[in-house]
Amino acid sequence: MDMLERLNLPALEKGWVWLVGAGPGDPGLITALGLKALAEADYILYDALAHEALLGLSTAEKIYAGKRAGVKSCKQDEISDLLVKLAKAGNRVLRLKGGDPFVFGRGGEEAQALAQAGVPFRIVPGITAGIGGLAYAGIPVTHRDTNHAVTFITGHGVDGKLTKLDWGAVSRGAPTLVLYMARKFAGEITEALLKAGRDPHEPAAIVANATRAGQDVIVTTLAGLPAAAENAPALAVLVIGQNVALAGELSWLAKTGV
Ligand code: SAH
Repeated sequence: MDMLERLNLPALEKGWVWLVGAGPGDPGLITALGLKALAEADYILYDALAHEALLGLSTAEKIYAGKRAGVKSCKQDEISDLLVKLAKAGNRVLRLKGGDPFVFGRGGEEAQALAQAGVPFRIVPGITAGIGGLAYAGIPVTHRDTNHAVTFITGHGVDGKLTKLDWGAVSRGAPTLVLYMARKFAGEITEALLKAGRDPHEPAAIVANATRAGQDVIVTTLAGLPAAAENAPALAVLVIGQNVALAGELSWLAKTGV
């Protein structure tokens, strides 16, 4: 904490909400501001992806406010209402979310609710699974030899159905595609991309439980993605593109076992 103090970071003040990204899993990937919020919060509203080691650091009142497929969980409005209520009662409130709060995490919606209620807030970005998780698999999300652009996609929308996108345009838009929440729809997505002309032999990977104990990297091809997805763990990002092949040389975690 001594080092943290020397950074002169802002304090989590009474009546404020900090929307903090915890990173993809490895507790070492939270930011300094995130750690400070853990130390100062009166209440933590955390989701299913928040690491127990991080929660264990804090003496705050902890409230589970997550969403999990098939499990009865909090509604978005209830979470936002609770954030507003706790802050208006004069508490220091930490909303801890997996990855980055503004990347497919509904952080934007929660921030809007705070803004509308006049509650002061700070956004503390985090390392998103589609970048940091790939790094732990030895896959650089961009590399000059392979891709000058990348597209981040969510596999399903609020309705739980395949995201309505112009998949032809997606297929031509960037050499590398990174897909969150897409394991269930790997078949449909692959079919749409192949139909739009993507090469069935191009490298693809499923990075599951990235940066967590039991990280699992399945390297395949675009054509092999649906079958690979069927057997993959639930928490996974899919990545399609030539940069996946770099993992052969760069999968540092598998090589060092750190
Ligand atoms: N805000 C988060 C994303 C939340 S959506 C972020 O920035 O990372 C939840 C999806 O994120 C999961 O379905 C999965 O696709 C991905 N995800 C989050 N953590 C992950 C991890 N440790 N390993 C693999 N995928 C992960």
